[in-house]
Amino acid sequence: MSKLKLAIGLGSTCSGCDIAILDIAERVLELVDLADIVFWPTAMDFKLSDLEKFGEGEIDLALYHGTVRTSEQEHIAHLLREKSKAVLAFGSCACFGGIPGLCNLTSRDEIFRTVYKETPSTDNPDFVTPQTEVEVGKFKLTLPELYDEGKALTQVIDVDYFLPGCPPPVELIEKLIPVLRGMQAGELPPKGTVIASEKTVCDECPLRKENKMIDRVARVHEIIPDPERCLLEQGILCMGPATRGGCGARCTKALMPCRGCMGPPPGVKDQGARMISAIASILGVEEEGQMSEEEVARIIDGIKDPVGNFYRFTLPTALLNRKVR
Ligand code: SF4
Ligand code: SF4
Ligand code: SF4
Repeated sequence: MSKLKLAIGLGSTCSGCDIAILDIAERVLELVDLADIVFWPTAMDFKLSDLEKFGEGEIDLALYHGTVRTSEQEHIAHLLREKSKAVLAFGSCACFGGIPGLCNLTSRDEIFRTVYKETPSTDNPDFVTPQTEVEVGKFKLTLPELYDEGKALTQVIDVDYFLPGCPPPVELIEKLIPVLRGMQAGELPPKGTVIASEKTVCDECPLRKENKMIDRVARVHEIIPDPERCLLEQGILCMGPATRGGCGARCTKALMPCRGCMGPPPGVKDQGARMISAIASILGVEEEGQMSEEEVARIIDGIKDPVGNFYRFTLPTALLNRKVR
């Protein structure tokens, strides 16, 4: 069978996703046996022209990791779409906007003001900021534009498959190998396939649930949890009920709360809203009428940084997806 062509493009990324691909260790040999990697700028000296030379649909599978934050990243996303039969959003940044998507809590102007004007070490009286058109001698250069907003790949191009996680777990990345084998035999997975579990992290978590209510929310360093019991039922904000499984509950197995990196479970649009609803039921807010205002305020006060907790990986694709002034 002829070898496939695999491209790996990127947006605003920490490159943890690139490293995660290498984390499949010797199985990477199976990957390169199945597919020639025709574009992977993080790993090799690829240029945009290497991608541009391909015809429409000539690449079999394109992975894209990272949030789309600049005009260049958007251009790469469109190029990959045009040149590839199938595109897979790799990692939570591409799937839902990810951690770089928390940029939607601020704006480009605010960032420029802070970075190029207000920091104590900045000496920039003319408030010079990055330009998109620059003249160098007789050359006119067009540079990438930093967008005001970060977007998930799904908000920029049509995406066929999803492999969530920050970074995606090795066991799930390995599932790309049978997917590529299938593609080699002409069998594509159904569009919209998410390479992960159809259940939640709670379904994979070994900690014991006792359906107990809680009267306070504690931060992870504030209590020593019972290592056998559900962390959420001990008052620690654990995103397990609002998060898609597939990672094997790797955080709660180490007694750290789930942060929600696999994104919302199937059928849930807004992961944060689902979590708020889960907390409301466990905090007994239905009996709010019998609680004093001080008690309600004390409970709510225990939830520090609600956006950071509930939308850490999904803000750009949430129902309320950015701060507007
Ligand atoms: S999903 Fe996580 S590991 Fe991957 S690029 Fe985004 S922040 Fe990095
Ligand atoms: S809420 Fe967290 S600790 Fe509790 S069962 Fe779910 S994943 Fe486990
Ligand atoms: S337990 Fe939660 S935060 Fe940890 S890897 Fe799984 S989904 Fe991500």
